[in-house]
Formats: sequence, C-alpha cells, structure tokens
Amino acid sequence: MTNFTELPRWPQLTDGDIDAAVSALRSNRLVGAPGSLVDELEAAIAQKQSVSRAVAVSSGTAAVHLALQAAGVGPGDEVIVPAHTFVGSASPIVYLGARPVFADVRPDTHCVDADSVKSLLTERTKAVVVVHINGCAADMAALRAVVEPVGVALVEDMAQALGTKIGDRPVGGFGDLACISLFEQKVITSGGEGGLVLTDNAAYAERVKRLRTHGEGPIEGQPGMIWAHEVGYNYRLTTMQAAIGVSQLKRLDEQVELRRHNAAYLSELLADVEELEVPTEPEGTVHAYWKYALRVVPGPGRRTAAELAAELRSRKIPALLRYPYPLHRQPAFRDHRGESCPVAERLSQELLALPSHPGLAEGHLDHVAAQVKQALVQ
Ligand SMILES: *Cc1c(COP(=O)(O)O)cnc(C)c1O
Repeated sequence: MTNFTELPRWPQLTDGDIDAAVSALRSNRLVGAPGSLVDELEAAIAQKQSVSRAVAVSSGTAAVHLALQAAGVGPGDEVIVPAHTFVGSASPIVYLGARPVFADVRPDTHCVDADSVKSLLTERTKAVVVVHINGCAADMAALRAVVEPVGVALVEDMAQALGTKIGDRPVGGFGDLACISLFEQKVITSGGEGGLVLTDNAAYAERVKRLRTHGEGPIEGQPGMIWAHEVGYNYRLTTMQAAIGVSQLKRLDEQVELRRHNAAYLSELLADVEELEVPTEPEGTVHAYWKYALRVVPGPGRRTAAELAAELRSRKIPALLRYPYPLHRQPAFRDHRGESCPVAERLSQELLALPSHPGLAEGHLDHVAAQVKQALVQ
C-alpha cells in the first residue's frame, strides 16, 4: 500500500490559466468594458448551459442576491430555501429584507423536497431557491409542478453543479434564473472568486446587469448620458478573473468525467461496507460529484460521522461533515427558526464528504478508502 504524506489539493491552476490572467493584465483593460473577456466568459457559459443570457458577477452569493432581486424579492416577502445547504444560498434573502423559510430535503438526493416546499407556500412566498447539492440534480419537474400554479419564481442555486444534467440538458435552464459560483473550491474557478447569473428572460438579465454596476444605465432622450435608476452594487468581475474562468471552462467536461470516475471508483471500494451508504445518482440525471458525500449509518457501538471525520483528519485525509448545522440551527438565522426539517437534521449528523476531486488518481482513492475502513474499526 502506497503511503501518502499529503493528498493533492484542489484547486489546480494550469500554466495556461495563469498565462491567460497575465495577458488580461497586460491588455490594460481590467474591468468589463463591452467586448472584453467578461463578455467572452458570459457567452461561453451561456452556450455551455444552454441558456440565452449569462451575467458575470463577483461571487456566487452576489449571483443569488441579484437573481432574487431580479425575480422581484423585497421586504416582507418569503423565500423558501432548503435547510441543508451552504449559507450563501440563504443570506441574500435577508439582504433583501425578505424572510427565509427553511424547507426539508429528500433522504435520497439530499436536495429540497417538493412536498416540503408545497407545505410552506403562503401568499407572501415570492421565490424558491433550489440547490443542486453536491452536484446532484434536484427534481425540477416536481418543483415546477408545485410553484407554477401559484406563480412563484424558481431560482436554481447551481454553485455546486456545473456539469450536472437532467436528461441531456445541463441544469441552469430549468428555473427562471440560475446562479453559478466560481469560488476557489468549486468545479471550476475564475481565480478565487466569481459567479454568474443565468436566465432566458431578457428583462431579468438587463436588471441583473444594471444592479451589478451601481444601478446605472442610459437616460432616455439624453444620448450618451447615464444615471442610477435604482440603488445597485459593485458586483463586477475583473477581466483577469474572466480570463481564468474562460481558460478553466475549456477543461470542464474532462474534469466532470474525472469527478464521475473518482466517485464511481470510491463507491466500488466502499459499497460493501455495512456502516456506509454511498451516494446515488437519480435516474435520468448526470451527477457532477462536486462533493462525494456518503452517509455514515448510525448503529450501536458504531462511530458517528463526526468521530470518523476527526479520525480521518488525524490520518491526513481531509474529510468534511456536510453540513453539520442545518441553516435554521445557525445563529445568523435565529430570527427565522421554527420550521421542522427532520431529514436535514438527521443528515447533519450522518453525512461525510471524502476527497474525490480530479487531481486525485486511483492510487490516492485506494489510500482514502483503506483509511476509511481502518478508521471505522479503530
Ligand atoms: C459556494 C456556494 C454559494 C456561494 O458562492 P460564493 O462564490 O462562495 O459566494 C452559494 N450556494 C451554494 C450552494 C454554494 O455551494
């Protein structure tokens, strides 16, 4: 058995990514004027995700913020969001003066449960944030059937789901708007931070563009003049970031294949372990496996997921609990508690993500699986 002192880390930037960033700097066009690399990134992502518009912003959280604002979310509204996700799915609801309402997730996919969403709809519900968690596709058909009769917007948070498909269509075009993150740890990165809003709705795209740059836009009847039509933000992406994003996007398909290969390989090694339940891919979908999250099945005398994670980290395997605190249990959302999300609460005690990124070869995964098996019994 090979002994690794440390597993390769994610992300991995190539010389090509870095050269692209340097040429953007040398071009002396540092922010996104028309025709810049920012436009190029937007066009490339829109094409990749089969939507008509993409607007690049400074982070995935900024993307969720502007998507919700474009969908009309404002003070006093309610927005339904899964309890089992990253905080960035929910904080923007509070930025807008609206109230997050936490929905439960499904025990199989760990994505938001359409029945739970249905039970939480009120007259004040303005939007539902749907998270394709870990790269696993949420059931968009069931969710659409729940929201369509009541005219509530669906926003896909696909921060973890570049590469995920439903049928042969990439996610991002199943809701009214979708949000991508290009943060360092995500499927691809624009050099640390970045994001995009996707939509097929031209009016939403124009509103997101305007909000991204201080709410400014042309004044009707005064050619060449602009002013702030509404209070906006500075959520721009730089051309240096866009250049890295464009460069990384070229490797997306290949990297998703590697992630899927690594996930299948780990599952093959761990499927027989009684204490573990390996992740599943819903029928008719492509799971991008941004994270390989398995369930540590509780039982008498068994290690909990938290104990296993600690033991693995002491063996230099960066295992993570995903997510150990449902959103409605975190102090930031203390004013919004009260909902019951039994599945999300149970999963918070049971899910463990193992390293599976494309920088790992089969030898590394053999080592990870062997350490997991030892850590379970010691
Ligand atoms: C990473 C992430 C975000 C936020 O993206 P940032 O680029 O880090 O702001 C939002 N939602 C989910 C589900 C994420 O994983």
